[in-house]
Amino acid sequence: MNKNEIPYKIYLEENEIPTSWYNVRADMKNKPAPLIHPGTLQPLKFEDMQPIFCDELIRQELDNDTAYIPIPEEVLNFYKMYRPSPLTHAKFLEQALDTPAKIFYKFEGNNTSGSHKLNSAIAQAYYAKEQGLKGVTTETGAGQWGTALSMACAFFGLDLKVYMVKVSYEQKPFRREVMRTYGADVTPSPSMNTNIGRAINEQFPGTTGSLGCAISEAVEVAVSTPGYRYELGSVLNQVLLHQSIIGLETKAACDKYGIKPDIIIGCAGGGSNLGGLISPFMGEKLRGEADYRIIAIEPASCPSFTRGKFAYDFCDTGKVCPMAKMYTLGHDFIPSANHAGGLRYHGMSPILSQLYHDGLMEARAVEQTSVFEAAQLFARTEGILPAPESSHAIRGAIDEALKCKETGEEKTIILGLTGTGYFDLKAYEQYNNGTMSDYIPTDEDLAKGFATIPDVNL
Ligand SMILES: *Cc1c(COP(=O)(O)O)cnc(C)c1O
Repeated sequence: MNKNEIPYKIYLEENEIPTSWYNVRADMKNKPAPLIHPGTLQPLKFEDMQPIFCDELIRQELDNDTAYIPIPEEVLNFYKMYRPSPLTHAKFLEQALDTPAKIFYKFEGNNTSGSHKLNSAIAQAYYAKEQGLKGVTTETGAGQWGTALSMACAFFGLDLKVYMVKVSYEQKPFRREVMRTYGADVTPSPSMNTNIGRAINEQFPGTTGSLGCAISEAVEVAVSTPGYRYELGSVLNQVLLHQSIIGLETKAACDKYGIKPDIIIGCAGGGSNLGGLISPFMGEKLRGEADYRIIAIEPASCPSFTRGKFAYDFCDTGKVCPMAKMYTLGHDFIPSANHAGGLRYHGMSPILSQLYHDGLMEARAVEQTSVFEAAQLFARTEGILPAPESSHAIRGAIDEALKCKETGEEKTIILGLTGTGYFDLKAYEQYNNGTMSDYIPTDEDLAKGFATIPDVNL
């Protein structure tokens, strides 16, 4: 289709929302490595995970074979409150860049939680309710996942205990109050309610916490409270499965309007939005039906793909969680204070790690100030104030579009715009004041993190 003929919004109707999730593992020749028990190093079986996760979610976690898994009607009905999410032709951004490339963005910030995380939160809350549980626990850093799960638990009448990294609890009162408004019980982590929290407080008096510690606390509470389980917002296979709704809608909209992407770009923290966005396209690639360039964009300050190691590592600092084989910087790696809180994770989804290892996708690391430069241009041209995480994908797409300007190629680029940046205005303030800095870890910094990766050769 000629560029000028493509409408600004690529609409799907409500009845065109996909009714099954797509499980890309079914089409992977090399399956992602299983989660293993840190003590026995054996792959975790259903029973091993039962104290931690809901039964149906464990089945989804372990299912490498079923390509399509029906979305429960209750979840589909909730999706209809904010889906289908728009796929938009970024005409004004293209004009500003003066590029022959076509750029489209799939916007997941159209709900109160402000990000794609609600797509999995509502599914996870549903399965907890179905199982007759009383409540669930989770951790949250900057607060996007905690907010999404609060909304989901309120909808299904489940209790939710959120362990929020103390520094965010104190510095980001707005997200905390959104969560409390939806009924969540929010505790700053490390707390004095758990063995791990008390131990950490004793060892490091005055600590402001970390995500790894908050995960350990949330898991401890879930395992020791009757009628509770723990839920996680990224990294896991089940989360990528739920997020496939992003990619399936994108594919349906592309097919409806005759758009064929050459390049698909997303930001990568734990890998859930990117994994979801690319899943049906990756499926075609794996089955040999089509080819796409797929690019993960990560912060240069936390470069799991581009500088990490592909190895079994712990998912949390407290080492209470199973181990996953993934690209990792080491579970003790503490990235510098990048503003894209959702991208500051030491590891990466095992599915995406395997796909990257097999050469089926690319990755690039970008620096913070160049990300905010892209965010500002996007806000001024397309109107949406993007989340810092999402702006990594915008940076990647702009770079590809500028290459097209040099070569004159009319490539079609789709980028995943995961959320809005209204809770990140402190970061925008620094950028606007010219006081934002870039930090790229040295090889020595990374070596310290790598030294914490356990020596497991499987
Ligand atoms: C959490 C988050 C991310 C990163 O998480 P993934 O699991 O890698 O998708 C990206 N963007 C936003 C807005 C987020 O909240």
